[in-house]
Amino acid sequence: MANRKVNVPGRRNGNLVIIGDGDIRPYNKLLRVRCDCGTEFQITTSGFVHTKTCKKCSGRILSERAAERRKTHPNKGRTKPSRLYRMWTNMGTRCNNPNNRAYHRYGGRGIRICDEWHSFKQFEKWALSNGYREGLTIDRIDNDKGYSPDNCRFVTYRENNQNRGNNRNVTYNGVTKCVTQWARELGIGQTVLCYRLNHWSVEEAFTRPIDYRKTGRKRGTESRNKTTSTSD
Ligand SMILES: [Zn+2]
Repeated sequence: MANRKVNVPGRRNGNLVIIGDGDIRPYNKLLRVRCDCGTEFQITTSGFVHTKTCKKCSGRILSERAAERRKTHPNKGRTKPSRLYRMWTNMGTRCNNPNNRAYHRYGGRGIRICDEWHSFKQFEKWALSNGYREGLTIDRIDNDKGYSPDNCRFVTYRENNQNRGNNRNVTYNGVTKCVTQWARELGIGQTVLCYRLNHWSVEEAFTRPIDYRKTGRKRGTESRNKTTSTSD
């Protein structure tokens, strides 16, 4: 800690220079110091070791640093994080923080974020060139796969909820079950079933054979359906 030699006038720490002895307090002998900006004040010897500027200057340096950081990390400064940045951090907590209340539906069942998107810059770049708009939310095309450019798109909140099989009930032949259960029972992917239900009648959605060439869905979705029903 405080070396006794620091009490010497002329000794410098950062912008502060000792200019002489200060007041004597019951437990402390203060030093009189001057900041490079001209401000003079008194400080304890141990305080001097840990202080490099006067209060005014340290405030200025902090705000300069924050401004600098805002340039390089747009959302790590003191500004309100952008919506996209919140989306990115929320994605991270759902997948990585067991204390998050949605964790069991994400990280808890193996939903991961691709390496590329561990960088916000990369995620932002992808989002902005793939249809991100205010009011849209990120959607995983295949609910059993992670967050990556080939499995994600931007949809409205309503669409996103419709694709969440476990809160959408469907009645077929007088039996009501959620889409997740139906998909398992029918042996087809939940994503495909959702897509069908959004476009066709329940009857059709449940009975029409799957023609992979005609579904027009992304490749990732199809390949999963061939090996379906073991996941989860
Ligand atoms: Zn100063």
